[in-house]
Amino acid sequence: MKVTIEVNGRPIEAESGEMLLSALRRAGVKVPTLCNMANLTPTGSCRICVVEVEGQRSLVPSCAFPVSAGMKVRTHSPRAVEARKTIIELLLADHPDDCLYCVKHDSCQLADLANELGVRSRRFAGAKSAYALDQSSPSIVRDPSKCILCGKCVRMCEEVQGVAAIDFIGRGSKTKIGTSFDEGLNVSSCINCGQCVNVCPTGALTEQNQIKEVLAALADPNRYVVVQHAPSVSVALGEAFGFPAGTDVDGMMVAALRRLGFQKVFDTGFSADLTIMEEGSELVRRITSGGTLPMMTSCSPGWIKFVETFYPEFIPNLSTCKSPQQMMGAIIKSYFAEREKLDPAKIFSVSIMPCTAKKFEAGRPEMGRHGVPDIDAVLTTRELAQLIRMRGIDAAELKPDTPDTPFGERSSAGKLFGATGGVMEAAVRSAYFLLTGGELSDLVVEPVRGLDGMKKAVLDIDGTKVGVAVVSSLSNAAKLLDAIKAGEHKDVQFIEVMTCPGGCINGGGQPFQQDISTVKARMQCLYTIDTNDKLRVSHKNAEIQRLYEEYLGKPLGERSHHLLHTQYTERKTLL
Ligand code: SF4
Ligand code: SF4
Ligand code: SF4
Repeated sequence: MKVTIEVNGRPIEAESGEMLLSALRRAGVKVPTLCNMANLTPTGSCRICVVEVEGQRSLVPSCAFPVSAGMKVRTHSPRAVEARKTIIELLLADHPDDCLYCVKHDSCQLADLANELGVRSRRFAGAKSAYALDQSSPSIVRDPSKCILCGKCVRMCEEVQGVAAIDFIGRGSKTKIGTSFDEGLNVSSCINCGQCVNVCPTGALTEQNQIKEVLAALADPNRYVVVQHAPSVSVALGEAFGFPAGTDVDGMMVAALRRLGFQKVFDTGFSADLTIMEEGSELVRRITSGGTLPMMTSCSPGWIKFVETFYPEFIPNLSTCKSPQQMMGAIIKSYFAEREKLDPAKIFSVSIMPCTAKKFEAGRPEMGRHGVPDIDAVLTTRELAQLIRMRGIDAAELKPDTPDTPFGERSSAGKLFGATGGVMEAAVRSAYFLLTGGELSDLVVEPVRGLDGMKKAVLDIDGTKVGVAVVSSLSNAAKLLDAIKAGEHKDVQFIEVMTCPGGCINGGGQPFQQDISTVKARMQCLYTIDTNDKLRVSHKNAEIQRLYEEYLGKPLGERSHHLLHTQYTERKTLL
């Protein structure tokens, strides 16, 4: 029911019973918070969003206070502002004075608030808690000394990702965020998604930074340094340089990568097309020859670890295809190395990814040959932005450039991999060709588009009915797997799972964003690229066709099997 409330002397419309903070936001009244997360139950733990409500003796946390008709609210009364300032001062009393050295120094919500509230000196002094850094994970670094116990990481990990690798541990002043038994993140059930990093308001959670390794390789005359960039990077990188959300900076990014000194710049959209050739063929083979169904995509490494850890009974359902990152890595150090007469051990292969879990994936023992890893270093979109700035490159002034042969051409189907539903859409376009020899008249597969966390459809591929499901976020994946175990979804033959909500456009390595409209803009940008592209199906990519002719033979052939496919096994965590 719509009601009217008075905020700072002005009437605003709200829904009776909704939380006051959401009504204030809709009305454009900015009240800060450090613990609130859209669509998750409010905890009111940071109390930064306190406001005065007439008739209430104490200040109330607006995130957890329901709206009622006629209420009168003051959001920035001297009492409310002073209370917020005191909370920040108390948080800073047990916080290192590290801003100059902190990874988050330009995107820290705690520092921003301290500035906004005019905190200019240390009001409360006391002994600071001493905590060790946890650098055990290949993807995430934890610095508990910068943690303000807002709990966002815990809720993200448990409620959105269904993993619960971290929680509040200890009591009273000794309370902190940690894994069971306070061990390193590497031995926990963490699947390396980095979604906790995305929501952490401070520098307590960051990615493992690999810029140093990449710079060392670029400076080494004995290394041949190549780089690939994932489909969702170009639609988010621009935000770090002031472009509006949803701007595609592909050409600028390629030019920047060249300027940084990479000898070849390849497009992971190419190996996304390659993935479609292999995965589409695998799906057709499973459907026509009685293989394990439903087949599940395998390009999202957090999802793979999730299945290995929590649902090992579904390992046979996973496609055996490596991810596009790993396929590209494998063909760079085989086909490309042979073609260019390079020693694979001298090639240093870097990938630019939207994802922290890709760092973990690159280090998996399955992902290499003869002791040489397919990928040597993974930089997130954020790290690439830092590297570009570090080298003094004026991104806006760069003349757009195009990637190199033989892995520079991509279809827009490959580009769609960047959003939830994109792998499915690309696969359906090529599966139609593989089954019928013809082309779909309408290439847009509308039922799998959009940001919904769970989408299901039955597609008609020239008379063959194929049931498909598309999920993003692992709590949604868990719901689907549990339902399949309970005997539901028998009509589903192919499932796409992306670890991060919305897919790679919202990956754990993308520029920090505070609201869903940014993710929507990134998604729309991918759809626009697809609409305008001349090459919209993976199987028509001429460089892919040449790779098969010159080297691989045919999809699922002997060479593909060795280079592009792998197997997974059940994973036991120590915690
Ligand atoms: S987390 Fe924020 S306040 Fe703390 S040291 Fe880093 S930038 Fe400064
Ligand atoms: S990286 Fe993902 S799985 Fe690991 S602690 Fe963070 S949210 Fe949880
Ligand atoms: S690690 Fe970050 S997100 Fe988690 S409780 Fe601490 S400050 Fe909040």
